[in-house]
Amino acid sequence: MKRREIFAGNWKMYKTYSDAEKTIKSLVEGLGNIGTREVVVFSPSPYAKACVEAAKNSPIAVGMQNMYFEDEGAFTGEVSPIMVKDCGCKYILIGHSERRHVFGETDLDVNKKAKLALKHGLDPMVCIGELLEEREKGTTSEVIKRQIDGAFDGISPQEALKIVIAYEPVWAIGTGKVATPEIAEEVHVLVRKLIAEKYDQAISDIMPILYGGSVKPDNISGLFAQENIDGVLVGGASLEANSFLSIINV
Ligand code: PEP
Repeated sequence: MKRREIFAGNWKMYKTYSDAEKTIKSLVEGLGNIGTREVVVFSPSPYAKACVEAAKNSPIAVGMQNMYFEDEGAFTGEVSPIMVKDCGCKYILIGHSERRHVFGETDLDVNKKAKLALKHGLDPMVCIGELLEEREKGTTSEVIKRQIDGAFDGISPQEALKIVIAYEPVWAIGTGKVATPEIAEEVHVLVRKLIAEKYDQAISDIMPILYGGSVKPDNISGLFAQENIDGVLVGGASLEANSFLSIINV
């Protein structure tokens, strides 16, 4: 079963408007023939439309890094899925560990966001992952199950097919401590099993599951060689076009 292969960059709260545009243009120029590989850039919200314009007629899709779970209203500072869509974005990142642990997002928030994103025709990339203390306590599987059950609650099989999962162990994000390919693969196998139990084997077999956490040009090949790792979500190493290109061209 050939699954979609997705290479996504999360620019977090970095870059200026002109640098964002310039980086997309350098990516477009440097991509070459990537076959069926998909490339996604999660831009800071104010630059998303400029990134969409710069990526026009290229294989790069653009997404935002967060949205609120209401269509509109008195929610000062928030961005609605309608706005994300209106800016030309295809993807929305949901439940990134920085949203969960810096801003207190819960599994229920993640679920509400995923449902509303789907309603508005956005493709959610849902992030899950355990803290270092949870791994050390041996509760990784429990945490992953709780996050998957929470995120997918009430989501139909048809809708689930539009979701991409990113497994990002929190201890590996921005720390330079990448999970070994074996550790990552073990969790990806568990995620696939949980999705098969929740839906069915066919849905589980085609769901893309990405790894994220200190992915760099020098560690991508071991990770991407794993059977259940269908691509990566890259933070720091996606900020510079050449380094993201070396990851995409693994
Ligand atoms: C991320 O932001 O999702 C991420 C994985 O960051 P980094 O690659 O810098 O660890």
